[in-house]
Amino acid sequence: MATHNEVAMATIAKNKAAALEPDLAYDDSHPSLAPLSEQKPSTHAHDVLCISANDIATRLHTAQQQCQRKGVRFTTLRRTVYQLILQSDKPMGAYDLVQSLQAARLQEQGAKAKMVAPPTIYRTLDFLLQLGLIHQLTSLNAFVPCCHPRDQHNAVFLLCRLCHRVQECSDLPGYEVSKYVNNDLGFRIEKSVMELTGRCQSCVASTIDKS
Ligand SMILES: [Zn+2]
Ligand SMILES: [Zn+2]
Repeated sequence: MATHNEVAMATIAKNKAAALEPDLAYDDSHPSLAPLSEQKPSTHAHDVLCISANDIATRLHTAQQQCQRKGVRFTTLRRTVYQLILQSDKPMGAYDLVQSLQAARLQEQGAKAKMVAPPTIYRTLDFLLQLGLIHQLTSLNAFVPCCHPRDQHNAVFLLCRLCHRVQECSDLPGYEVSKYVNNDLGFRIEKSVMELTGRCQSCVASTIDKS
């Protein structure tokens, strides 16, 4: 028989258009790639809002392993919130997350469902940020998955104001500012996310076609 949590997560997955198969997502025995944190980070741009169902399953599995190594718990809530951010086709705000979780609880438990407490969600988001699994986009007040989750890195986000595509470039060559700040100025950077707004490659190309 499905447990309480399995039902809740299956409901959330079902609600998403590109839902991954719950069985695959929660089966820790499926073959996984090398931990993302050990893969060489790429310096090109990655679309952070187009993640395949397979990739989502791999990332959840990798996150679980990462938590195990660090001796922290990858609780159902942490997993569910991370999964919602991975599945979303837009950056998710804390309010969107509360709504999605609440909808799933209501569907599952009816009128007696307890309300999702926003502080709990903020704590969960903090946990995922600390682990480097997600990034916070200040200009949109929303969260997106990291393209290559690992501890400390400089993330540069390219935000298209026309089609709302979000791309992450990390460890750009020649990214000298943080090196200078850390080494020469002695300022310890704890969070480094740069957000560049403009028109993405496809939107630039389609404008050129029309002219
Ligand atoms: Zn990142
Ligand atoms: Zn665009």
